[in-house]
Amino acid sequence: MAEHVIIVGSGPAGWSAAIYAARAELRPLVFEGAITEENRLAGTLPLGQLALTTEVENYAGFPAGDLRQFLETAIAPERFQYMNVVHEKHAVTGPELMELMRQQAVNFGTRIITDDVVEVDLQRRPFVVRTRESGEHQTQALIVATGARANYLGLPSEEAYKNRGVSACAVCDGALPRFRNKPLVVVGGGDSAVEEATYLTKYASKVHMVHRRDKLRASMIMQERAFSNPKIQMEWNHTLDEVLGNDKEGVTGVRLKSTAGDASRELPASGVFLAIGHTPNTGFLKGQVALTEKGYIRWTQPFRTTTSVEGVFAAGDVADDYYRQAITSAGTGCMAALDAERWLAAKGL
Ligand code: NAP
Repeated sequence: MAEHVIIVGSGPAGWSAAIYAARAELRPLVFEGAITEENRLAGTLPLGQLALTTEVENYAGFPAGDLRQFLETAIAPERFQYMNVVHEKHAVTGPELMELMRQQAVNFGTRIITDDVVEVDLQRRPFVVRTRESGEHQTQALIVATGARANYLGLPSEEAYKNRGVSACAVCDGALPRFRNKPLVVVGGGDSAVEEATYLTKYASKVHMVHRRDKLRASMIMQERAFSNPKIQMEWNHTLDEVLGNDKEGVTGVRLKSTAGDASRELPASGVFLAIGHTPNTGFLKGQVALTEKGYIRWTQPFRTTTSVEGVFAAGDVADDYYRQAITSAGTGCMAALDAERWLAAKGL
């Protein structure tokens, strides 16, 4: 029996689509991804990029407060027990928000498989969805909400020291002993870079923010946060040329190249955190859905989540290279479920 709708992805877009599809009695099946070492390093974890962040201060509806009782009563005990709930007054964190959305989807009858989708066949109808471990599934409609993963620069030295000082996730790795009371480097000038740098100041003796220009891309409030933090030192007009280290200690420093014609220089550091943007997770589609020049899924009609394949809808960061916010992802997830529901009804499926 084919599913009405399969949703691939478990960030705000995937769960919002699931909530709407479940309430429309489509009994959605969500593939939330699996935790493997490869996925962790690539940043393609269950619960998406928000699982890798700290507080989400700009998701409407969650002003800072003591959320503990709410979280404890809203989320199933078997998942709550693994949550690291912050005790002091705080805005909802990324992982908390995602657990809440996941629970809300489950409450309305969403079924979840903790597995990766590796391939789809969109030439056949119903579509075929192949996963790493749970075999083949068929579906009339497909919602792709696989988000985007963290970019690396592609330096051989960066690859060599991954897991030994090179990371793209401060929240995952920042508290490791090797980073404590040591100078660290964050590469990038966007909101993520400021967020990573600020988070790392909890542990590091100093955080060098290496940015290729002399102006941050980050929002004003995040810029102010970086500039007012005495532990953050801006390294303007530089790129990361090489990660320095050795087999015994892992990362010991970086060589920076000037983008303003100055000489290269070296800094001691026990860790390097990349925060240079993201790449949409479209590999499993194997060219069957049209992409934009930047590699994002192309939405084919204004204000719709339709794609080049009828019955396939896209939501969240996998299709949005412009807004890329939790709340806009959730919005397009809702749109994708409504689009899928209407398409299924029109086809009598
Ligand atoms: P981003 O805004 O695309 O910023 C990427 C940064 O990396 C830019 O500063 C860019 O430099 C730099 N960069 C890119 N390629 C590079 C390369 N090859 N070498 C050196 N530097 C390179 O990405 P993001 O910071 O991950 O943010 C993504 C989205 O999530 C944004 O919409 C952001 O607002 C949102 N976000 C929000 C929050 C929050 O509100 N708390 C937190 C995190 C993310 P240039 O500036 O020179 O292009």
